[in-house]
Amino acid sequence: MDPARAIADLRELHRLTGGPEGARRVAWTDEWERARAFLLERLDQLPVVVEHDAAGNLWALLEGDSEEIVAIGSHVDSVPAGGWLDGALGVFGALEALRTLAAAGFPERTVALVDWADEEGARFGRSLLGSSAFAGTLDLDAAAALIDADGMSLPDAVAAHGVDFGAMARAGEGRRERLAAYLELHIEQGPVLEAEGLPCGAVLGTFGVERWRAVVRGRAGHAGSTPMDRRADAGVAAARAIVALQGIARDHGGVCTTGRADFEPGFVTAVPGRADILVDQRHLDPGGLAAMRADAEQSFAAAAAEEGCELTVEPIWRIDPVPFHPGLVDAAADACAVVTGGEAKRLPSGALHDASELARICPATMVFSSSIGGVSHAREEDTAEADLERALAAYGELVQRVVAGGVP
Ligand SMILES: [Zn+2]
Repeated sequence: MDPARAIADLRELHRLTGGPEGARRVAWTDEWERARAFLLERLDQLPVVVEHDAAGNLWALLEGDSEEIVAIGSHVDSVPAGGWLDGALGVFGALEALRTLAAAGFPERTVALVDWADEEGARFGRSLLGSSAFAGTLDLDAAAALIDADGMSLPDAVAAHGVDFGAMARAGEGRRERLAAYLELHIEQGPVLEAEGLPCGAVLGTFGVERWRAVVRGRAGHAGSTPMDRRADAGVAAARAIVALQGIARDHGGVCTTGRADFEPGFVTAVPGRADILVDQRHLDPGGLAAMRADAEQSFAAAAAEEGCELTVEPIWRIDPVPFHPGLVDAAADACAVVTGGEAKRLPSGALHDASELARICPATMVFSSSIGGVSHAREEDTAEADLERALAAYGELVQRVVAGGVP
């Protein structure tokens, strides 16, 4: 691997499809096609077969001794005004790994670079579109109803880029069964590696999510004329429950967030009669996630009762945790230890990635690079160059090992 070559590609990509306002590679737009055209130019120089599958995912296959495919990649699409590394690092890191393997002759297993279509869901709100179609988990009816801000439907938008929406579910046909492993390099988008002074780490899996709404109903009243001992203050109940979430997250080793709380009537002179609270809980372990959710509901109910209020809870959205393949996680940790000269950090991913979809159908793992300040989905997103080089080197090491048949 020559990490400097991958970094030069990333800078050139950013020159072509980014700038002072950040990356502009929103899926199903001309700028996204420009980014893909740049990737195709680079792939033209390699002995690979390039194909688009039925969901618009771009594949470049380097034939090996065995039919089994080791897939490597990420996504070149970005959010509007996004970072230069989110997604692109994984695609151009995979390109550099492919170049290295091609230069060495026939690899032991077939290697495929893949650029998943529309990972971000920035325009239609459906993340992991191409990878979920490939994995067979895309709900086509729900996706068919999606509309962008200009009123264009997702089926029309993908058709403008050569994809027959009705055929998207066939994306994995003939290839899904051949996948031996999926390996993805990605920027952490969080502060953990930087805080520990590490350039890269092995990813254990992606968090499961429980997202729900709590509604606390008390009694609205006048702020002046309602005595303190005659109140059923939904705001106070909500506040107690929100604060208790911190302890629940710590007890279970997960994360809990109240992203929004609204009071009604919502005047400075009114005792809140109703509070609407949006809760998001995430954990790597299914049991941990379920326990965190149960404790939180119990705590909300207790806080409501203490203030003489009533509680109702409505689910909004949930997803199970996706643990990565233990043997591949070990291999990724070893590869990171090679470049750090010691510590092999393992960490969970708080965000979902294409690897979350691939892990449903084949052994998968990821390598994270550090992320300055943990900033992502913003033009300020960056990684120290020395860390980028070492993360790329670790990823290259991992790919070499897996392609050689060491794991899984
Ligand atoms: Zn990404």
